[in-house]
Amino acid sequence: MKHIVIFDPDTKHLSSFTSLLKKKNYSVHGFNAIEKAIIHIKNSKSDIIFLRLPEGLKTKYLNLLNGNVPHIGILGKEKEGVIRKAFKAGIEEFIISPYTASEVKLKIKYCLEKKHRTETIEKEKKYLKALIDITSLVSSTLNSYEILYFIVKKIAEVIPVIRCSMIRVEHGQNNAEVVATFESPRLKNLTLELNKYPEIREALIKKKPIIISDVNSDPIMTDVKDIISPLGIKSIIVLPVFYRDTVIGTLFLRTSRSGRSFTEDEIMFCRTVANTSANALYNAFLYEKSESEKIRFGKLAITDYLTGLYNTRYLYNRLEEEFSRARRYNMPLTCLMLDIDFFKRVNDTYGHKTGDKVLKEFAQLLKKHIRKSDILARYGGEEFIILLPNTSKEGAEPEAERLCHHIKNHKFKSLKGQHSLSASIGVVTYPHKNINHSGDLITLADTALFKAKHTGRAKIVIHP
Ligand code: GH3
Ligand code: MG
Ligand code: MG
Repeated sequence: MKHIVIFDPDTKHLSSFTSLLKKKNYSVHGFNAIEKAIIHIKNSKSDIIFLRLPEGLKTKYLNLLNGNVPHIGILGKEKEGVIRKAFKAGIEEFIISPYTASEVKLKIKYCLEKKHRTETIEKEKKYLKALIDITSLVSSTLNSYEILYFIVKKIAEVIPVIRCSMIRVEHGQNNAEVVATFESPRLKNLTLELNKYPEIREALIKKKPIIISDVNSDPIMTDVKDIISPLGIKSIIVLPVFYRDTVIGTLFLRTSRSGRSFTEDEIMFCRTVANTSANALYNAFLYEKSESEKIRFGKLAITDYLTGLYNTRYLYNRLEEEFSRARRYNMPLTCLMLDIDFFKRVNDTYGHKTGDKVLKEFAQLLKKHIRKSDILARYGGEEFIILLPNTSKEGAEPEAERLCHHIKNHKFKSLKGQHSLSASIGVVTYPHKNINHSGDLITLADTALFKAKHTGRAKIVIHP
């Protein structure tokens, strides 16, 4: 039912006009005082406003109202001056006494249609502008994640949603990844368990948009509605994003509207956006894949395959860096070289495989007892090097003692605690007159270690 407001100080006309409109089945509110009419218009929805002229023009009323509701002027008889003023104020339609009932009805119908047309054009303009923005975003130099974030943000600007996200899926996976969500701009790579999102799963299986008009009554949502409803989510739309023929993700919109849910226009708009986003989403996927490969290869290249500690390649690089830093800032740098005593016996007694396990356990033991800033690497078979940045000879000695102590007291699981081990340690600290290059640290630590081995093992020798 359409709501009509009338302002007319002529009470006799007001009451006859009101009953005429009521007979035509409109909901009508008539006022003979402009102030009361204004209060009503501000506080409730109206579709048409009739204003007696010129009285309706005398107040500031017209400046206060937006132009969304059509106004129709009521004139006693045609007065050119009044009409000109009314036009200026934004009133473009009039009824002039004497009028007929059907004339009034046609006027209302015309105004409502005009209003509807204007609104449709406005909405289309809004969608079109958003699409133009999205299209230019997609070809911009922003990275894929930024593009996807701006896309979901744009959607949220034109469609009233409470959640709007771009989700990336991979065929056959049980999890999906939220790559962009307008509610939290900084969010990245949140994982969704698809078994908790039957609507997304349905869209992936059917490869078609899924529209849930009411979470509480849609059979797809039966298992999860009790979790989703309390969040204020009433309707949902899931639109698959295709790259070539494969679904690589979905656009995922949720609103607090129920019943009418999403309009045709909104769905159409989202479909277009979903198609436009495909490349950005695919690029985000490629980027993620290449990054994780890079990290994996990078890690592999500097890791000792058996113990998981750094390998010599990394050690030499770090030694070079730490040595330059120590020299530049005049800071001490200590190098410990550590060799397990009689390790050959472990292999001979328990076999090489157990020997490997002992080496792994030994590596973990060292890792546990060094400081975060120390650099631990496997130097060779059963030899390890620990670089202690910013550690002097005085600081290094108790560190080495502590390590020796932990090694001696450790019960190796792989040896069922029956066989304890010891290690010999060579220690050298920069600055020292014999140290001119980073390599000297290793050579001198090796010499000290050699001395430890030849003077009884299970001990620490510090380069003099
Ligand atoms: P010490 O250092 O006290 O002089 O005696 P050792 O027996 O520890 O030293 P040696 O240099 O004679 O032998 C080192 C042994 O370490 C020999 C080698 O088989 C073993 N080894 C080296 N790398 C590995 C490995 O990766 N796995 C296993 N299981 N053993 C290894
Ligand atoms: Mg040894
Ligand atoms: Mg050795």
